[in-house]
Amino acid sequence: MRVLLISPHTDDVELGAGGLVCRLLDEGKHDFRWLVFSRCEDSLGADMPPDTLEREFNASADFLGIRDRDVLGLPVRTMPAHRQEILEALVHARRDFNPELVVAPSLDDVHQDHATVAQEALRAFKSSATLLGYEQPSNNVTFNSRVLVRLTKDHVWRKWQAMEHYRSQQELGRQCFSWSFVLSWATMRGAQCGAPYAEAFDMPRGVV
Ligand SMILES: [Zn+2]
Repeated sequence: MRVLLISPHTDDVELGAGGLVCRLLDEGKHDFRWLVFSRCEDSLGADMPPDTLEREFNASADFLGIRDRDVLGLPVRTMPAHRQEILEALVHARRDFNPELVVAPSLDDVHQDHATVAQEALRAFKSSATLLGYEQPSNNVTFNSRVLVRLTKDHVWRKWQAMEHYRSQQELGRQCFSWSFVLSWATMRGAQCGAPYAEAFDMPRGVV
């Protein structure tokens, strides 16, 4: 299966779908492409170099072993103004890579960049791929957990190890960037599907 991972900002896929990615990697039969829309230079502390999050993303993707990746340079929090560019990048990915599974933010995500990317992903892939929308705890006021992906503790641990590459986010005190948060969240979702751990996804489109 060809899997397209979509991150508006560098760390979104690891947080929302890192366990799913590890489970698919373990299956050993999928091709991955990873598209990131912003390096988020303006989301850093004043003493942090502007390429900090891009370097952390590359370290995380290297750890996971995903080589086919592209980081675009849209300014953070301006994506509604770049809607057409985002759609064109996604249409290019559809033509060039033709993913069967697309993993993107959910349509209920209230962050303006995530919401724009979620809408454009549905436009670009509604006729060609299954679309899973990942959960972002600080951005989803509501969330349709239609799909639960069962995970092992190893999947959750490796998700956290990928997230741990984002030292800047830990230094900035982002509450989601801790092992205790990741483990508790996965445990809660696991309890909903008879598994020790899980991640939840909305599914705006399924193509079988
Ligand atoms: Zn984000």
